[in-house]
Amino acid sequence: SVSAFPFEKTLSDFDFDFQPSINKAQLLDLESLRFIEKKENILFFGPSGVGKTHLAVALGVAAAKKRYITYFISCHDLIMQLNKAHAENRLEAKLKHYAKYKLLIIDEIGYLPIDKQGANLLFQLINRRYEKNSTIITTNQPFSKWGEVFSDITLANAILDRLIHHSSIIKITGPSYRLKGKVELLEVR
Ligand code: ADP
Ligand code: MG
Repeated sequence: SVSAFPFEKTLSDFDFDFQPSINKAQLLDLESLRFIEKKENILFFGPSGVGKTHLAVALGVAAAKKRYITYFISCHDLIMQLNKAHAENRLEAKLKHYAKYKLLIIDEIGYLPIDKQGANLLFQLINRRYEKNSTIITTNQPFSKWGEVFSDITLANAILDRLIHHSSIIKITGPSYRLKGKVELLEVR
């Protein structure tokens, strides 16, 4: 029931003192996985390096340990897979496949632009998962920029609506952990 995590990290590997904008109690509560039973989503917002993927993976690892079928994929790869299936006339099977995961983690929405076709395919998947299974997303773009990310404001809003309706939103505003202890080496920051 484990799948495709870029690394295996847990909440105990996370230094909450370094990122005070995160409510540790909220994350520990999410780790109980009640959100999966309630078919709720989790949306991680924040700039690069603040721990979005780490936290998403930590919850995914916890879910997989409890034998919830879990899958981790970048938004770019997911849309590539859906596009390929569409071109090969097997979109329906592919949508069914991705819809069935109890927990699907879609990483890095907004790092690369998504064309209208990609937005449409992602909408179809999110619509199928809506109120049926849990989805975790990470994104570096605020809601207000999603119209640009998806090249289509209506599709962006439709996707966001369904993600947000039953969700925990975790906005991280802090320094990049990747630059920890190195910031003084950078001249401009
Ligand atoms: P993001 O997805 O927000 O760009 P990541 O979750 O990939 O950032 O974090 C970048 C790296 O720093 C990863 O190796 C992650 O494990 C580590 N990291 C980030 N924040 C913390 C933290 N608060 N405590 C421990 N490690 C962290
Ligand atoms: Mg990341």
